[in-house]
Amino acid sequence: MPLRRSWVQSANDPGGAFPLNNLPFGVFDDGMGARAGVAIGDNVLDLGAMEGLSMVPGAGFRTGALNDFMAEGPGMWERVRNTLTGLLAEGSAAESQLADVLIPDAMVTMQMPFAVSEYTDFYAGRHHASNVGTMFRGADNALPPNWLHMPIGYNGRASSVVVSGTDVRRPWGQLKGPKFEAPIFAPSRRFDIELELGAVVGQPSTGPISVATADEHIFGYVLLNDWSARDIQAWEYQPLGPFQAKATATSISPWVVTRAALEPFRCAAPEREKELLPHLKDVGPMLYDIDLAVSLQPEDGSEEIISRTNYREMYYSAAQQLAHHTTSGCPMRIGDLLGSGTISGPERENRGSFLELSWGGKEPLELAQGGSRTFIEDGDRLTLSGSAQGDGYRVGFGTCTGRVLAALEDPFA
Ligand code: CA
Repeated sequence: MPLRRSWVQSANDPGGAFPLNNLPFGVFDDGMGARAGVAIGDNVLDLGAMEGLSMVPGAGFRTGALNDFMAEGPGMWERVRNTLTGLLAEGSAAESQLADVLIPDAMVTMQMPFAVSEYTDFYAGRHHASNVGTMFRGADNALPPNWLHMPIGYNGRASSVVVSGTDVRRPWGQLKGPKFEAPIFAPSRRFDIELELGAVVGQPSTGPISVATADEHIFGYVLLNDWSARDIQAWEYQPLGPFQAKATATSISPWVVTRAALEPFRCAAPEREKELLPHLKDVGPMLYDIDLAVSLQPEDGSEEIISRTNYREMYYSAAQQLAHHTTSGCPMRIGDLLGSGTISGPERENRGSFLELSWGGKEPLELAQGGSRTFIEDGDRLTLSGSAQGDGYRVGFGTCTGRVLAALEDPFA
């Protein structure tokens, strides 16, 4: 599919993130209250105002969260997307009418796009699981016996999910002491990122759903950074998995790129090393070809890319994760957020966490501007970005960024 040209000139820039082919949904505030919008070029189209003017269907665009719109279902998602595509297309008669509801993106502050009802994080990237498993248990036991049969996950905290731009405070926690010594309570020394994609569930379910149905329940995707305290994690994770190590914050990008916009970029999952049980089998190409990158911006203002990878490196798709999640009868809600798991690739430069990039801190990452990193230092800003490359255009996610602040004084002293 070629670029769909728009009368919004900045949307026709082949390097831009938000052409007419994209139309991601988000929530913004320009000082007049939070409402829904779509990104088009360098602008935000004010859906709240358009709903007031009956230019789009009444679908909850003035509520300050996308949940009501998602509740309307896939038919409405498609109807609104088609309406906007027509209104914004080159040659549309609506150009003069829409001038008042098109706001330069520099004039808005992006908000949380939806109320996160529940948050589950998976561990479904093959390279990440083998890297971490090799470090923790040796190469022969890298993958747990269940890993090639189902997407492993844990229930996270919806309360910890924050929108891109929010500062993240280095956490305190209980850390393992030196050999034979008691544990200590101290700020994390191994604070890390995890480069992930988050799937946003837009339809509820109350019992098991198939992989094909699960796919249709997904409204769209966001960039997701699962901030992780490795030293807290290493001490607490057995036998029930991560807890406080993952509870400080999880950042998401403000724009939800819809499943419809990603449709041209579908690609198959890697070859299956073990045949999946029937209820988890692929029902077609279920991943997406999305280039992803992580950049580090230390306090000195320099910036460099420290990792490049692609979402097609995942072993399990979001639809398979969602289907697996419902096998127990677990009800899923509108606004359920499913983290993909860290998306690493085969080479060192494709690793999506400092844990892997520095191989557990043993092989510091040398920075182009001088200095090195094993894990995040105070004042570092970490930014995720992503886009799918089309024919003369890109479907971009924008960025998901956060700066790490120094730990507070001992909170219990
Ligand atoms: Ca994670």
